[in-house]
Amino acid sequence: MVILGGFFFGYHLGFLFNMTLSFLGEFKMQYQTTIAAIATPLGRGGVGVIRLSGPKAYEIAEQLTQKSLPAARMAGFRQFCDADGSVMDEGIVLCFPNPHSFTGEDAVELQGHGGPVIQNALLARLLDLGATAAKAGEFSMRAFENGKMDLVQAEAIADLIDATSQAAARSAVRSLQGVFSTKINTVLEKLIHLRLHVEAAIDFPEEEIDFLADGKILALLDDVQDSVKVVQQSARQGQLLREGLQVVIAGKPNAGKSSLLNTLAGHERAIVTDIAGTTRDVLHEKISLNGLPITLTDTAGLRETGDLVEQEGIRRAIKEIEQADLLLLVYDLNQGDEPLQLAQRYFADHLEPKRLLLIGNKCDLTDQAAELSDYQGFRHIRVSAKQDMGVQALIDAITAHAGFQPEEDTFIARTRHLDAMKRTQHYLSEAREQLVVFNAGELVAESLRLAQNALGEITGDFSADDLLGKIFGSFCIGK
Ligand code: GDP
Repeated sequence: MVILGGFFFGYHLGFLFNMTLSFLGEFKMQYQTTIAAIATPLGRGGVGVIRLSGPKAYEIAEQLTQKSLPAARMAGFRQFCDADGSVMDEGIVLCFPNPHSFTGEDAVELQGHGGPVIQNALLARLLDLGATAAKAGEFSMRAFENGKMDLVQAEAIADLIDATSQAAARSAVRSLQGVFSTKINTVLEKLIHLRLHVEAAIDFPEEEIDFLADGKILALLDDVQDSVKVVQQSARQGQLLREGLQVVIAGKPNAGKSSLLNTLAGHERAIVTDIAGTTRDVLHEKISLNGLPITLTDTAGLRETGDLVEQEGIRRAIKEIEQADLLLLVYDLNQGDEPLQLAQRYFADHLEPKRLLLIGNKCDLTDQAAELSDYQGFRHIRVSAKQDMGVQALIDAITAHAGFQPEEDTFIARTRHLDAMKRTQHYLSEAREQLVVFNAGELVAESLRLAQNALGEITGDFSADDLLGKIFGSFCIGK
């Protein structure tokens, strides 16, 4: 096997080069329209910022201020004038010539006063002067399409703005700074390198079998699969941090469900009484346990009842149970109940150990200590919701159940990213099978191509327009 000579590299250099270029996303879109939007939240504040971006941004800003614009990136104080020349507001104008702006286009920021009436009037004036009202996420979309940032970074901006905890905000900044993208690009490079070797084998059919069988390609494939796995594990932490966990509390009436919700929430959210059937509707509470964002849902007690309202509550409870990431099934230790009996009666199809935690409540009334154990293959914990016994152990069990172990350098991630990595792994496994079982070079190459496309979706190298529309459409206006 002395195939990898000059000819081979000469021939494939262009091929590799093209692939590398495309995954760096070096392309530029030319938009004809100039978009404008209020970038600060609409409300009362000292300053309100309006953004303009596009080929006519400077021209429009000049007409608004009726003066020449300040030099690039220099703050200039200007009056903002109406069509009749009257002054509407005054403030700072900042100009960012292309390509050194957020969007990569000519962009202007107008920092006027922050009040809804004046901000809306200024925006209307810009539209009269030829700007178009920006759609949700349109500034970020342009930044992405002009190669100023990749898709992961654009999403990270939205996640930073929407972050509900310090940890989530810090992780979003890490993704914005490229931590996640770099990891993906490193794997992509390895994958391209692997494809190169496979393509080489195909190009020299007389050597193909040897080449595929000599172990080098398999070793490279192993390395790519391992690398994807490592990124998958970190991304899962980032996804949990961003999207949190849906945790539902269920059980018989009076088991202590509402008391447990209140204890976990740290305040009296749900009504607690010893009258059975108090909670008749579902009740949601957003909390954070060990830094993991959780939507905690209290549900109506499960029992046979003739009360129509309660029946509807139970129907809703079962719907929540079916959709939960994790179910806390609470029972009263003093009632001598069999912990799984209720589950078997109401939601037998949803009895999975990884989605269920059994909670024996009111241990303060028994001689049993608060304790974590196993019960018929399920995690089981004894607590007292009322006396706060075993609650920290329960919190740890919940976060451990979710596999939440954020590291110092956790970066924010989304379900979309995890789906793409799952598909990447699927195609890599397919490639492995084609290689090991069938020695079929062309099929290995095709699976690897699909794996690269799936992985490239994360940073936006390979993304259908409708996917982009969906992602950017979920951003807020002015972003
Ligand atoms: P739910 O119907 O399942 O939501 O139950 P609640 O939270 O409303 O509680 C029913 C009754 O049990 C109330 O009187 C609570 O004060 C009481 N209770 C709940 N948890 C505990 C506990 O851990 N220990 C004791 N002793 N009583 C509890």
